[in-house]
Amino acid sequence: MKAADFQYECPLTLDEALELLANKDLDCQPLAGGQSLMPLMNLRMANPEVLLDLNRLSELNFIKKVGEQIEIGALVRYASLLKSATIRQKIPLFSQALPHIAHSAIRNRGTIGGSIALADPAAEMPALLVALNASIVTRSKNGTRVIPADDFFLGVYDTALHQEELVHTINIPAATASQSFGFYESVRRHGDYAMAGVAISAQSIEPYTQLRIVFFGIGTHPQRAVNAERILNGKSCADVVALKQAQDALSGLEYYGDMNASSVTKSRLVHVVLQRALQNLSLEQV
Ligand SMILES: Cc1cc2nc3c(=O)[nH]c(=O)nc-3n(C[C@H](O)[C@H](O)[C@H](O)COP(=O)(O)OP(=O)(O)OC[C@H]3O[C@@H](n4cnc5c(N)ncnc54)[C@H](O)[C@@H]3O)c2cc1C
Repeated sequence: MKAADFQYECPLTLDEALELLANKDLDCQPLAGGQSLMPLMNLRMANPEVLLDLNRLSELNFIKKVGEQIEIGALVRYASLLKSATIRQKIPLFSQALPHIAHSAIRNRGTIGGSIALADPAAEMPALLVALNASIVTRSKNGTRVIPADDFFLGVYDTALHQEELVHTINIPAATASQSFGFYESVRRHGDYAMAGVAISAQSIEPYTQLRIVFFGIGTHPQRAVNAERILNGKSCADVVALKQAQDALSGLEYYGDMNASSVTKSRLVHVVLQRALQNLSLEQV
């Protein structure tokens, strides 16, 4: 099947793009890497009247360190994130997790902004951003909004983004020397969407402090395991009783079955992925 007819627009400036998005008479949809949108259009599950190609907007394509945070433009591709020395040094969680996103052909095109605007419940990037306490800067003709990642992902393919807004920048606190990061996902084959996965950040690990434990692939959107965090904070990473209590506390999360695994399977896999990501955390100290 091929996409329904659409009008193609490829603006050279952000202002032109925002102007088109602000036109309420146009059903306009941004195109970034196209790795999700093009298949959806070909299946006629997305039928925009106007396809707004963002790929010439160089003002959305940057990685920079500003003070104590890393700013990433929405159009930066996974492959560029993986190649960046700034990302390797300052956001080591990305270096752990990004090789698990799909395959290199898809990582060469797929963008950080496209992934978070899509908000697939099994995608890695939304969970990484919540674990890293990131914020998302949106732009529209009416101005700018800064939305904490904690508040951005609302449900299956549902975000706080308004129709006339673009994801512009993702702001992530740069890692400090005492911080640690862990990641683990359970998949049928490398590169598949996860049946259950988790991204973790910690201010320190002996004992654990300021843990952020965020699961993906198990529910409608990234879920912070606040009860497990509370149990583990202040405990040693060798405390197996605390680990067991934290695993038991994961029963309070929401589980939805999908084509990758049933809700029961997911509710068991979370125990394994938590334990393994905590082990990675000890190994991956910055
Ligand atoms: C075979 C296959 C396997 C995959 N496996 C994985 C995986 O394991 N993990 C994973 O996370 N993903 C996976 N993906 C999805 C891939 O990561 C996509 O690249 C990503 O989800 C969307 O990014 P994109 O840049 O291609 O966005 P597009 O497909 O261009 O757009 C996706 C959506 O975001 C909107 N959008 C794009 N950019 C913006 C913006 N700046 N502002 C507002 N809205 C915007 C579009 O309008 C569209 O609704 C897979 C894809 C394929 C085809």
